[in-house]
Amino acid sequence: MDPKAGRTWTARTLAAQAMGKVDEATRAVVPPIHVTTTFLRDPDNQYRSGNIYGRADNETVREAEAVIAMLEDAPAAMLLGSGMSAATAVFLALSPGDHVVAPNVMYWALRNWLLTDGTRWGLRVTLVDMTDLEALRGAVRPGETMLVWAETPANPLWSITDIAAAARIAHEAGALLAVDSTCATPLLTRPIEHGADIVMHAATKYLNGHSDVVAGALATARKDEMWDRIRRNRAMLGQILGPLEAFLLLRGMRTLPLRVPAACASAMQLAERFAVHPAVAEVLYPGLPGHPGHAIAKRQMQGGFGGMLSIRVRGGAPHAIGTAARVELWKRATSLGGVESLIEHRASIEGAGSPCPDDLLRLSTGIEDPADLYADLDRALRAANA
Ligand SMILES: *Cc1c(COP(=O)(O)O)cnc(C)c1O
Repeated sequence: MDPKAGRTWTARTLAAQAMGKVDEATRAVVPPIHVTTTFLRDPDNQYRSGNIYGRADNETVREAEAVIAMLEDAPAAMLLGSGMSAATAVFLALSPGDHVVAPNVMYWALRNWLLTDGTRWGLRVTLVDMTDLEALRGAVRPGETMLVWAETPANPLWSITDIAAAARIAHEAGALLAVDSTCATPLLTRPIEHGADIVMHAATKYLNGHSDVVAGALATARKDEMWDRIRRNRAMLGQILGPLEAFLLLRGMRTLPLRVPAACASAMQLAERFAVHPAVAEVLYPGLPGHPGHAIAKRQMQGGFGGMLSIRVRGGAPHAIGTAARVELWKRATSLGGVESLIEHRASIEGAGSPCPDDLLRLSTGIEDPADLYADLDRALRAANA
C-alpha cells in the first residue's frame, strides 16, 4: 500500500498521517506497536514475512524509517538507539587505517569519540575548519580519505558548511560525504539533494521533538555496499531502536512540519532582538545577515534557518552562567529540538579543548510564545549584569 500511489502528497501531509498506514486487521487509524522479538516460521520452513528476529526486524521501526526516508527523499533510512549510535555506525563501517576528515566545530561527544576511541579503533582523523573549502581540499588525501563528515548548522557556533562544495571535494578524492543534519531537520535542508551520500540525525532532537526519546537516524543516497555493512552491523550489534521509542518518534514526526517553522520564526525574532541587546556582545545565528555562513545558509536552507542560536554575554563566563541561573521559563538543560526552550552554558559541558567560547549560552528555541521567551531571558540578562 503506497500512500503516494498515483498522487504526490506533500511531506507535510505524509508526515501528519505517518505515511497513511492503517492496521488492516482492526481498521485502526494508528497502527499497533509491534513488540514481538520473534516471528512464526512457515510450515515449509520458510520465512516469507520478511521478519525473523527482533534484533534485525521490527515493523514499528520500519514505519518510522519510512517517514524519515520520505522526508529526506532517500531510498532508505535506518533507526538506531541514539544519534551517537547512528554517527559511530557510519565510522565503524569503515576499516581500521582509513582516513577521515571531520570539522573542528561539531557535536562535542562525536568529536571527542573520534579523537579517542575512534582513533584507538584505527581511524586516522584530521579535523579542519569545514567552512573553509580550501582547508578541506588540503585535508583530504585522494585514495586514502574514505569519509568526510560535516555538520550544518554546527554546534554550538552554528557554522554553515556548503554541502554541495564539500561533496565535490570529497568525491574528487574518492571519499563519501556524511552530513549530521540534526539542526537543519529534513524540512530545511535535504543533504542528499546537495550531493551528500549519508545523512545522520539525532532523532532525539527535532524529529521526535518532545524530549522523551533517545534515537538516531541515517538516510542514504544509495542502497550500496556501505549501507549494507551498516545494516549488518546494526543487526549483529543490536543497535536497532526499540519499538516503543519508534512509536513515540512516529508520533512526534506527525507534527514536525508545524514545529520546525514555529521554532525557526521564534529563533529569528530572538536573534534580531538580542543582536541589539545591551548585555549581549554577539548573536550567532545563520539567519542574521552578519553571520559568516548566511549566504550559503540562504541557498541551502529553505523555509528558515533553524531553531538553534547562541548568544555571547557581555562580562564573560560569570555573567553567562549568572544569566542561565536566573531564567524561569527557559529550562537549564543540555539537548535541543524539543517543544520546550532550553538554555545551556555550553563550555561547562564541553570542557577543556573545546572551541566553544566561555561566554556563550546555547539556546534551543521551542514552540512557546517568542515574546515570553524574550521577556524571560531579557530579565535574566539584566539581573546578571546588575
Ligand atoms: C544530540 C546530538 C547528537 C547525538 O545524539 P544522541 O541522540 O544524544 O546520541 C549528534 N549530533 C548533534 C548535532 C546533536 O545535537
